[in-house]
Amino acid sequence: MLNVILFGPPGAGKGTQSQNIIKKYELVHFSTGDILRAEIAAQTNLGIIAKLYMDKGELVPDEVAIGMIKAKILANRNAKGLIFDGFPRTVTQAKELDKMLESEKIPVSIMIALDVEHNELVTRLNGRAFESDRVDDKDIKIIENRLEIYRKTTFPVIDFYKNQGKFKLIDGIGTIDTIFSRICAEIDKVI
Ligand code: ADP
Repeated sequence: MLNVILFGPPGAGKGTQSQNIIKKYELVHFSTGDILRAEIAAQTNLGIIAKLYMDKGELVPDEVAIGMIKAKILANRNAKGLIFDGFPRTVTQAKELDKMLESEKIPVSIMIALDVEHNELVTRLNGRAFESDRVDDKDIKIIENRLEIYRKTTFPVIDFYKNQGKFKLIDGIGTIDTIFSRICAEIDKVI
């Protein structure tokens, strides 16, 4: 099984590149952000709680994110592979993901991190605010809060995969196709 973690700060292009990767490698897509937005739209209890965090640009609690992913992994353990987009976002989540995948004998194949500098991220997220109705893209303070949480809480997840020899940094600046080719070159080395 090909299990890919697509990693990077908000605005790095994880969602866009995930769509390309899923098509080419026939993977099942796990985007915790998309799952949470669907829960909010459906006004479930989980969605009502998640909205309190997401609208402020905070992470939802680890138990919530981990619980959502667990059920989905079990339901897809016979897939060709999985792509995790926006998960794990904390070291606790990374450890739990490893445990879940190891107990199913379907370990992470590679962690691909998209590298994009701060000002470019702010520009992209601001731009996205015009096309999406995401509350967390509309306010510069919320955008800055998300980037700050990324630096403090999410960035250390890199070391977790670096220590396992699975971390690959990809230049996230360029056209969508150029970046996709860079990603494929790394994935093709592990399949
Ligand atoms: P972006 O990468 O642009 O921030 P996402 O859709 O991945 O967009 O995430 C949107 C929000 O959803 C995050 O700011 C956070 O509140 C919540 N979220 C998504 N994934 C996780 C996760 N793994 N752990 C905690 N919160 C999450």
